[in-house]
Parts: sequence; structure tokens; C-alpha cells
Amino acid sequence: MTSTARVDVDGVSVSPDHYINGERVSSTATFEDRSPLDWRWRLADVARGGTREADLAVTAASEAFTHWSSLDVEDRANYLTRLAQLIERDVEKIAHVECLDMAMLEESLRLRVIGRGARNFRAYADLARNYEPRRWTSNGTENTVLRMPAGPTVVITPWNAPFMLSTWKCAPALAAGNTVILKPAEWSPLSCSMLMDLVEEAQFPPGVFNLVQGLGEEVGAALVNDPRVRRISFTGSPETGRIIGEAAAKNLTPFTAELGGKGPFIVFADADLEAAADKAAVMFDDGGQVCLAGTRLLVEQSVRERFLELFRAASERHVLGDSRDPDTTVSPLIHPDHLARVNGFVERAIDHGDRIVFGGHVERKDGLWFQPTLIEPTSNSSEVVQREIFGPVLTLQTFSDEDEAVLLANSTSYGLSAIVYSSDRPRVLRLGARLRAGTIWVNCFLVRDLTAPFGGTGISGIGREGGEYALDFYSDLKTLQIKEGTTNG
Ligand code: NAD
Repeated sequence: MTSTARVDVDGVSVSPDHYINGERVSSTATFEDRSPLDWRWRLADVARGGTREADLAVTAASEAFTHWSSLDVEDRANYLTRLAQLIERDVEKIAHVECLDMAMLEESLRLRVIGRGARNFRAYADLARNYEPRRWTSNGTENTVLRMPAGPTVVITPWNAPFMLSTWKCAPALAAGNTVILKPAEWSPLSCSMLMDLVEEAQFPPGVFNLVQGLGEEVGAALVNDPRVRRISFTGSPETGRIIGEAAAKNLTPFTAELGGKGPFIVFADADLEAAADKAAVMFDDGGQVCLAGTRLLVEQSVRERFLELFRAASERHVLGDSRDPDTTVSPLIHPDHLARVNGFVERAIDHGDRIVFGGHVERKDGLWFQPTLIEPTSNSSEVVQREIFGPVLTLQTFSDEDEAVLLANSTSYGLSAIVYSSDRPRVLRLGARLRAGTIWVNCFLVRDLTAPFGGTGISGIGREGGEYALDFYSDLKTLQIKEGTTNG
């Protein structure tokens, strides 16, 4: 059913519906979307898609693929650039709605995160325009590697930073010549719906870029099980990654998965301890709901006391509050179920004998804030060390030398990111080689070059996206071999 319904989200008009084949489409069923800033605030009743909507979207994307994939690269890149310009124009509106929807700090959404969505489209427009196929000669033939657009692509994203994380995947898929069906998470569906208004304004051909809303186990499952889908790109938890992997395997659909993390934050005695402590306290920002966060503090024994003193002071400077307020640094958690999950980890840690150094409680009975919390575990096998909590809860452990630091850092099943603070260059180069993680930051955090590979090892993910790596994933590569001296012109 086509729809013209709009909801007013604090002064911003947002469609609660799907966007399929260039039109807004509603569903008979809906789901409630509430604001974590005040759980009584019902932002919208959002269309709850199922097999019908998944089928409509994959059909639209399949039909649009022929035209989109055969467009000149320059033409496709122009659509992406136009979309980037429109995002830049609307940064404030999108940031505001995403802040209400998932409670990430509005200032950082406005200054950094939503703009990154525009940069994602610009970066892939440029990469597609400037692509030089690899060419070399061997065995008397000239070899050329060519990229073929792969086909309809399903992108499934989590509730944290939904706009940025969705554009990170949709941009290379579209640039590679694929059509896209985006399914954002049901806990923060609104900013991706706003993206579709801009897709319409940029006049993308119908069916090229579609959005379906709904629950993962309903419309998400229908999408990933459809054999017409030729790429699946997923960001979310390892548990869902496994389920999607099974669906992908059934249809032999290539898929990438960017999954959870439990990154080590390693501090050596030779580091700038103040800078390290300040950065470690940043792990509490946004309620600690950041997959890349270094949540296991591993500190060289000789500086434990000094580091802890500095870290405690930096953590005490945090302000728990409304994410719209620029003074707030720690936002509430996304959902009451997630708050209960985070609290459960801490309660089990206490039962297990782990020591709460500070924090450890839900901040206010009428809100979704959890206190910045530091736990000293009884052993490396404690649940709080080994499992992703995805809240403002860090652990503190010590090591006596570099080997022990590496051993502890590599001792979980995850491998998304690692952070190292040290001033010793030969040491950090050795660590770079020995740590099991997709991204290792030394004396910094969250600095990203969009052309670098990004992903995780272990249960943190399969495959790499970013730069040419993503364009390769969203394409089928083929090799053209021409016998030397047999052609002219
Ligand atoms: P989740 O796995 O519960 O959900 C992610 C998405 O999958 C949602 O859109 C959901 O609707 C969908 N889904 C659920 N079941 C499905 C199914 N059976 N078939 C198809 N789709 C299904 O994750 P979440 O709770 O939304 O997000 C938090 C997780 O995401 C954390 O583990 C976090 O570390 C991870 N994450 C990873 C990265 C990264 O880049 N590696 C980035 C952000 C978040």
C-alpha cells in the first residue's frame, strides 16, 4: 500500500514507512519506537515489514539492477555526490532525530557522525571514478582484473549510530553498481527513513536504493534468505551474525559481518599516562555503546596506582544527562531490555567475587542511565572480561611485561580493535604485529581513513570493508586475458 503518512518528531517530519521502488509503502502491522531519553516518549509507530515487504523490495532491487549496473561510473558517482550534498544540508535535522531515537550525544552526531555519512558517499563516488583496473603481463598474455556489479545487496545494521553505519555499507554497494535494500535496527529506525527522503530528492531511479523497516527475525530473516540477493552486508552481534551466515551459506551468497568487540586498552609505563587515562575515560561516552571501545584496561603493574588515580579523576568529570545537552558526556542506554542486560553483567560479576572499583548501579530509577563502572575481575576468565557488555562498564587488569600484555590482550574470542598507549616505537611496531585485531590504534582512538580495511577477526567478524576492499566485496572480479600481439588499436 503506498503511503503519504508522516510523523512529527519534535518538529521534524519523518516517514514511518518503508521506501520500496521509489515509493513510501506502509504495512498493516507496526512497532512502537520510543526515545531512550524519556521512555514514555513514543516517537513513532513504524511499519513492521514481513515476507511481503521483503519480496517487494528484492523484486524492485532486482528489476532496477539491470539499468543501474550498466550506467556509466561517472553517472553513478554523480548520484552519490548529490546524496552527500543533501546529507550535508540536513545534518542538524538528522542529528536531532537520531539523538532522540538512540540517545547518542547530539553534539557529536552533529559535528562528526552524521557528516561521516556524507563522507562515505563522497569517498566511494571518488573511488569509483578513479578506479584503475590492475593490469600485468605474464605467460605471453596481458591480464586485466575487471569488476562486475554483483546484484541486489541486503544491508542490515544495528541500533548504534545507524545512519553512519548504514551509509558506510550502502555507499560502496551502490558505487560498485549494486542495488540496495537497507534494513535498519528496530530500536532506532528513524534516521535511515530520513535518508530515503534524500534518496528521493536526489532522484535515484526507483528500486536502486530501498528501505524496509521491521524486526530482524521477521523481515530481516526474509531478506537474507532470498536467493535473488547476491550480497549481504551485516553489522551487529556475533549471535545474529551466525544466523545470517547460515542463510547466506544456503544460497551461497557472499556476506561480510562486522560484529561485536571486547578491545584491550593497553597502557605501558612509558606512556603519557594522563593522555591514556583521559582517552580511557572516553570509553564511557555514549553509554559505552561503541563496538570499537577498548573496554579491558590492561595496565603495566608499576604504574597501576598512578593510572588508576588519573583514570578515576577523568571518569568523575563525566556528566550523565540528556544527550541533547552539550554538557552531557554519558548518554542513557538504548532500551530498558539493554539496561537490564548491562545490569545483569554487573550483578553476576559481584556474585562471582569481582571487585567494583567505582560505579556499578543504574543511575536513576526513572531513566536508562548506567553509572560509569570499573571492575577488577578475580581472573581473566570472568564473564565481564570475556563477553561484550556494550555499556559503560570497563575492567582493570595488570601485566608485568610485554609478553603478558599480548597474552591478555589476545585472550578473548573477539578481535575487532585494540588500543595501545606507549611512547616506545619499536615496542608498538612489535605489538602491531602480535595483537589479534582488525584495527589497532596507538596513542589515539577512532581516527579513521576510509580507504583502510576495516573489520574484525575471531567472532568480531568476517571479511573487510573500507576503500577498495569494500568495492571488491560488492563486485564479482573477473580476469580478461589477451594473447600478446594478437590485437591492435
Ligand atoms: P543485533 O545483532 O541484535 O541486530 C543487528 C541487526 O540484525 C538489526 O537490524 C536486527 O533487526 C537484525 N536481525 C536480528 N535478527 C535477525 C535475523 N534472524 N535475520 C536478519 N536480521 C536480523 O545487534 P544490535 O543489538 O542491534 O547491535 C549491537 C551489536 O552490534 C553489538 O554486538 C556491537 O558490538 C555490534 N556492532 C558492531 C560494529 C562493527 O563495526 N563491528 C558496529 C556497531 C555495532
